[in-house]
Amino acid sequence: MMRHMRPHGPVVRTVRHDPADRPLLVIWEATRACALSCVHCRAEAQPRRDPRELDTEEATELMRQVASFGRPSPIFVITGGDCFEREDLDELVRRGRGLGLAVAVSPSGTAKLDRAALVRLQEAGVTAMSLSLDGATAQVHDGFRRVPGTFDRTVQAWATARELGMKVQVNSTMSSRTVHELPDLAALVREYGAMTWSAFMLVPMGRGVDLGALSAQQCEDVMNYLYDLGPHVPVKTTEGHHFRRVALQRAVLEERGADHVEVMGLGELYAELTERTAVFGWGDAVRARRPPVNVNAGYGFVFVSHVGTVHPSGFLPVSAGDVREQPLPEIYRSSELFTGLRDTSLLTGRCGTCEFARVCGGSRSRAYATSGDPHASDPLCAYEPGSFPYAEDVAALLAS
Ligand code: SF4
Repeated sequence: MMRHMRPHGPVVRTVRHDPADRPLLVIWEATRACALSCVHCRAEAQPRRDPRELDTEEATELMRQVASFGRPSPIFVITGGDCFEREDLDELVRRGRGLGLAVAVSPSGTAKLDRAALVRLQEAGVTAMSLSLDGATAQVHDGFRRVPGTFDRTVQAWATARELGMKVQVNSTMSSRTVHELPDLAALVREYGAMTWSAFMLVPMGRGVDLGALSAQQCEDVMNYLYDLGPHVPVKTTEGHHFRRVALQRAVLEERGADHVEVMGLGELYAELTERTAVFGWGDAVRARRPPVNVNAGYGFVFVSHVGTVHPSGFLPVSAGDVREQPLPEIYRSSELFTGLRDTSLLTGRCGTCEFARVCGGSRSRAYATSGDPHASDPLCAYEPGSFPYAEDVAALLAS
């Protein structure tokens, strides 16, 4: 990876191979079936499987197409709905591994997520698993997931996975209903241990439309808070691309010895989250800060739906093709939708004039969800292009 460096390490990582040629991640929605009905569900999950889903052989062909991108192969993530609704899940993991892919799964916190299932997955060769935890207590999390017992099952699966030596990513949705849970969630992640903790910046689509998205100011507060957690928790963001802008700004401000609260214009939410975390008394850094990676919808990232249609992200419901009709690498490399999204000169509004566009680019999914235009500004970003006072320092970091 190329790095935007400061003396003691990278601030933002840029993928070494060309992300326009080969994605880092291929996310496959194996099914939309799920026993839960979470209030923010992208997929508007259904109780039963769709007969049009890719079957075992078609899914194997998809994995062959993923392997044909070349080495190192993209990570193949099997998601849903609930991927445990597929009886062939273990077999698919086994076949993916046989094709030389790293295969990760993203199940729901249902009764199917038990120890026996995790052992079978591990024997099949699964590389990692992600789990969703939106609250630090059963009351908040189960309220969000709408099924009692989901919190306990998820935490139990987390403990079992760790015991089995599996890598675990924890995903938490940022919304006005759950944002005050952040300090306690951070403490939980720190205590249980995780490969990554991903803060999902809600995209208003599916059932998430009515969920109380954060304001741009609150998002700025949250991202700066997440940056502060970096030396203690392996934090990243999903659909929160301007976290890379925040990381660059904070690195510059640290070098300058400037007050980030004042320069970044941080507000009450930042003060509240910081104060509540201070009581934990975590002290010195326990880990190296994890620099965010420069990937975006259609740039390092591709989503294949349950019926085989290809999208720049799971939150951007515009299709660029169908893997039943055209190989995935062809669609990824050449479709107008994907090549257009990779062209930052097509960005409009604030994102179009922003000095951070090349390492950020904003959430194309949120731009589409709120305006119908995937090239429009990301409404969850509060930054006014050109307003950061240390432009030369930023330019030097971006050039390094
Ligand atoms: S204005 Fe757009 S490109 Fe600039 S930091 Fe915000 S989201 Fe990123």
